[in-house]
Amino acid sequence: MADPMNVYRFAPSPTGYLHLGNARTLLLNALPARAGGKFILRLDDTDAARVREEFVAGIREDLAWLGIAPDEERRQSEREEIYRAAFERLRAAGRIYPAYETPEELERARRLARLSGRPPVYDRRALRLTEAERAALEAEGRRPHWRFRLSEGRIGWPDGFRGPQEIDLASLSDPVIVRDDGAFLYVFSSVVDDADLGVTSVVRGEDHVTNTAVQLDMFAALGATPPAFAHHNLLTRADGEGLSKRQGSLSLRSLREQGVEPLAVAAYAALIGSSEAVRPVADLGELAALVASARPSRAPARIDPDELAALSAKTVHALDFQAVAPRLEQLGVGGGAVFWETVRGNLATLAEAADWWRIAREAAAPSSPALEDVPLLAEAVRSLPAEPWDETTWKSWTAGLSAATGRKGRALFAPLRLALTGLPHGPELARLLPFIGRERALARLTEAQLRAASSSPAEGDG
Ligand code: GLU
Repeated sequence: MADPMNVYRFAPSPTGYLHLGNARTLLLNALPARAGGKFILRLDDTDAARVREEFVAGIREDLAWLGIAPDEERRQSEREEIYRAAFERLRAAGRIYPAYETPEELERARRLARLSGRPPVYDRRALRLTEAERAALEAEGRRPHWRFRLSEGRIGWPDGFRGPQEIDLASLSDPVIVRDDGAFLYVFSSVVDDADLGVTSVVRGEDHVTNTAVQLDMFAALGATPPAFAHHNLLTRADGEGLSKRQGSLSLRSLREQGVEPLAVAAYAALIGSSEAVRPVADLGELAALVASARPSRAPARIDPDELAALSAKTVHALDFQAVAPRLEQLGVGGGAVFWETVRGNLATLAEAADWWRIAREAAAPSSPALEDVPLLAEAVRSLPAEPWDETTWKSWTAGLSAATGRKGRALFAPLRLALTGLPHGPELARLLPFIGRERALARLTEAQLRAASSSPAEGDG
């Protein structure tokens, strides 16, 4: 009986660090799996010359950072026997043939085809070689690469995003599936894996549309049921350039280092250039629901780093204490949910919570108050209430200060904020003050008063 479970996979080649565009592919596969299904991370690592273990580790780290835990991990480099068996079956069925052209010869043939107005499609010259000719080429020291012989005619599929698709196989070259050094190529090993692992759904970038035609023909040749395919639009840099694993700036790793919030990266990668507006989400479950109804646009989507930064800040502002508690603990931030709720609205990145914790509990930068603030600061020191403090302390203290000094609004609050935190902006002082506590508040106000008294009037006049 057929297993009715949906099986999804993300299949990066570990030849570089994942970028935002890879994250889009990842999420469009991993999020639907949350609704009931299996999600496989498949490492397409057969290209030994370009694969590096540090990229494998990087991919695992990036997934964990985004909150994606694969149900299974497979490495193509460990599955060669399975590819070999499938290769032999296709060979026995006459669907695979050896070819001996060098890359230079192939390039020349393509150039000639273009010059004479023909499409640059491989002319199957190797298919017509006799036994003797092959033997002669091998005697020359040439080793064969192997091509899959495509069927005649057109092949179509109902693309999950692009609607009905159809490609004439005659417009494509028979794909090379084994290199002359014996390495299996992705276009083939991917089909064998998808069939063997029972993958039911493949979402990938539009750059794979042609591969899908070729691969559907391979599924048919292997007698395997193909997955449903959907191809999403690609993401580009702000200047319209495509993303590459070799350029670092939009890698997930560099975004992580910049402190961009992973949930914002996920929301941005999944929603940009789709029918759903880019917006902050509370968790991946909410994002999964949006992704389920989103349709990617047809045009490529440009990444705007400022938009991502703004989304990241908004995402942080709405994060629940429960969701961030372990990270706050790691940053050495205390104060529980109350402190988090006091500062989160002022953060550009979560790590900045640690700056506010230091300001509250350790040291504030020395402020440079004006001479004219001396009476206010002196009165502030004199009338600073006794502890215990709570969120009402600020209001009653400053009401008394206002009555005593005649100051109101900015003239009253700005010098106090500067003296207490060392900064002109920040979280609501009513909520922050209890974390600063009387001892530190008194010391800071006293110091500010002394500095104000020793500042010159000219400085004070601005
Ligand atoms: N390794 C391929 C890539 O990174 C996988 C494509 C696919 O999803 O089939 O482009």
